[in-house]
Amino acid sequence: MERLYGVRRTGQRLGFRPAVLGSSHGELPRGLQAHMNAGVGVVVSERLARYSFGDGHPFGPDRLAAFMREYEARGLDRRVQVLEPRTATEEELRAFHTPAYLEFVRERSASGSGLLDAGDTPAFRGVYEAAAGVVGATLSAMEAIMRGECRRAFVPIAGLHHAARERAAGFCVFNDCGVAIELLKRAGLKRVAYVDIDAHHGDGVFYAFEDDAAVVFADLHEDGRYLYPGTGASGETGRGAAAGMKLNVPLPPGADDSVFEQVWPRVLKHLERFEPEFLILQCGADSLEGDPITHLRLSARSHGHAARSLKELADRLGHGRVLALGGGGYNRGNLAQAWNAVLENLL
Ligand SMILES: [Zn+2]
Repeated sequence: MERLYGVRRTGQRLGFRPAVLGSSHGELPRGLQAHMNAGVGVVVSERLARYSFGDGHPFGPDRLAAFMREYEARGLDRRVQVLEPRTATEEELRAFHTPAYLEFVRERSASGSGLLDAGDTPAFRGVYEAAAGVVGATLSAMEAIMRGECRRAFVPIAGLHHAARERAAGFCVFNDCGVAIELLKRAGLKRVAYVDIDAHHGDGVFYAFEDDAAVVFADLHEDGRYLYPGTGASGETGRGAAAGMKLNVPLPPGADDSVFEQVWPRVLKHLERFEPEFLILQCGADSLEGDPITHLRLSARSHGHAARSLKELADRLGHGRVLALGGGGYNRGNLAQAWNAVLENLL
């Protein structure tokens, strides 16, 4: 079985009812009104760090603190609006995941033992609640954008793009990206864009929406012949009603900022064609040089560039909505640089 950790050649609430969208500013709690159309919201809650597979694991509890130190050092904490996360409800999780899978995670979460997939993703006591907390953080940020409380937002730790509708995979238990997309569709959006610059292909999102014309997809990742999960070939462009709506760009091991600069305009052109009403960026930092489990050599400049150009695209499209999700990144210094570059460029 292919493993994410110790990679070889693996070849491979939203009680968010649609009505929320139409709610007038006057219906919001008084404290929020002062922030109307403020720039950027960030979820920085310690609750996010509960989603971790233990000390010493690539996806350890110290990733949030690594981000936070740099975020405070750059003074970004004084330039953003802090968003309080909530826990996603079972009903919300069911928008993407199957009831049987949710039940399975609930059982393993209570026992705290066993695996949630073929080997990468161990269960721990409370994993259900921790994973539902990450989804809730993403939904809180998404709702803040949709209500106009902020124009753009960033959520570290989130962006768990490998989880499928019926199974965990690659450190990902619940797919917050997938739940957010489903709830945006329910809220009436016709087109949502999902952009992924994590070193790993966003297979959990891609295959869940492969034939869904409501989802414009673009993913730059290390070629699946060399890295987990092995998918995301350039010929995978979508099926049925969504044929041609998915862009997969495998990058060779060692690809750097100059390669990124060459291919990024293709991503922008692809997205612009479909005029998405909401942009999600999964900005995994494991595509930076020096990550312990991947082989790309980007710098934080590429992540900053991606964030800035998506912000500009969202502004050109007239809505300004960009939600960036941290994603992977197992070198702590790299994730601090990449995620803060993204945040800084969203400001
Ligand atoms: Zn990754």
